[in-house]
Amino acid sequence: MYINVSDKGYDCIKNNAILFSTDESHYYLFDYIAKDLSSLPELFKQYVSKRLDTTTFEEKEDQNKIDELNSIKEILVSAHPYYEYAYKEVILNAIGKYFNELLVYSIFEKNLLSLDRTLEKKWYYSKLTCLMPRSVVPYSCYPTGFSPLDFYNKYKDWVDCQDYSPQSNDEELVIYAPHEMPVGFSEEIQLQNWAHGLLYFLLDRTAEHLKDLTLSQRIWLYGNIFHSQEPKIQVVRNLRFSPLAIYSILPDSKRNTFNEQSTPDYRYKMQELFYEFYVNRFNAKDGIPTNLVKPLSDAIKYVKTLKTETFHEEYKINNFQDLLSIEIMLMIQSGTRIRRCDNCGKYFVSLKRNTKYCKRNGSGLSCADEIRRKRSQKKYEENPEYKLYNRAYKKNYARVSSKTITQDEFYYWDNIAKAKRDQVMSGKIGISDFNDWLDQTNSLGSIKKLSREHAKFKGL
Ligand SMILES: [Zn+2]
Repeated sequence: MYINVSDKGYDCIKNNAILFSTDESHYYLFDYIAKDLSSLPELFKQYVSKRLDTTTFEEKEDQNKIDELNSIKEILVSAHPYYEYAYKEVILNAIGKYFNELLVYSIFEKNLLSLDRTLEKKWYYSKLTCLMPRSVVPYSCYPTGFSPLDFYNKYKDWVDCQDYSPQSNDEELVIYAPHEMPVGFSEEIQLQNWAHGLLYFLLDRTAEHLKDLTLSQRIWLYGNIFHSQEPKIQVVRNLRFSPLAIYSILPDSKRNTFNEQSTPDYRYKMQELFYEFYVNRFNAKDGIPTNLVKPLSDAIKYVKTLKTETFHEEYKINNFQDLLSIEIMLMIQSGTRIRRCDNCGKYFVSLKRNTKYCKRNGSGLSCADEIRRKRSQKKYEENPEYKLYNRAYKKNYARVSSKTITQDEFYYWDNIAKAKRDQVMSGKIGISDFNDWLDQTNSLGSIKKLSREHAKFKGL
């Protein structure tokens, strides 16, 4: 996968197609940070328990039931679009990593197994394969690097100690042997914590204790506090001389030039334009040879008709951490500041210090709009004239229900009451006048009279 960076955000690309795109709002990243992943370990535990006894390592019968795995996939995919395209690798990796940790834990912490047994390839292969879901790897078609054999090799590297003898059983010989029962998907949860920590420490403009520091001071602090775990963010950056993707899923406005460039016509045109350059190599430092002046000026004439971008900056990503690293690094470089929305609690890009609400549009209204509406509603309801009207409304509405006044009579009264209430709100009449009027029309007789007068006035 590649990340193709634009001035607004980035496109995630695989096999020449854009998988998903982000903009400068970074909502995918922030929504991912806020997603609750805490149910993954338990779901995974339930899944494993149907397939393998984690004490005796006996294989179980229920191998076709993968409800929990479907739930895991659903949670991941809803957390970030990356998972939609990489969930297979993520799930296989979680299983392989868990299985290896389980073996080391069972041997060195629990003495349930012998190391030699687990190093028998056939034994290892059969136990791990029974955890690998057939729905994810039909016909054992494992993605490169995620087969049981790959995990076996990792396991062998991990426990490979020349000094080891079955009698010594010394856990010191194995580096990082887990002392607790391993947990599924711990890597995904740690990754989320890591990204959250970076955002909080470096970019959150409301972060307690940190908000007055400059960016470089915050980076220095972070680097020293988390030094042992996270010495650097590392990404591979390339400069391409032609666009990477076909841009097939983009809206027309964005894709016109790129689509053109993927057609046979375009490729033929390029052959024609640059043929002389393919067959006549030259040194740019010596200037343009005379026989190439004409082809060059033709090419220049052509490039001026293109709406082409000058270059294509891209990053190679091998996993989700690479993608998160790039996005966070780009935010750091562009001086992006973020804060938590006071309404939904999620991060958003904060352009102004005093903006407290994000513009996420969940249920039709954005957080900013929703708060504005709530505020004016509250203010409205706190008005004394509103309270007076409300009390009288409830009373008269109850009279309709008990049929002591008719629907029409209620309707006449309500129209006048509403008009008078609004007159109080706009300052045209005093609240005591409104209160007096409500008192006068409080009796059954006067409501009926009111409606008769209204009808007469309307000529009914
Ligand atoms: Zn919000």
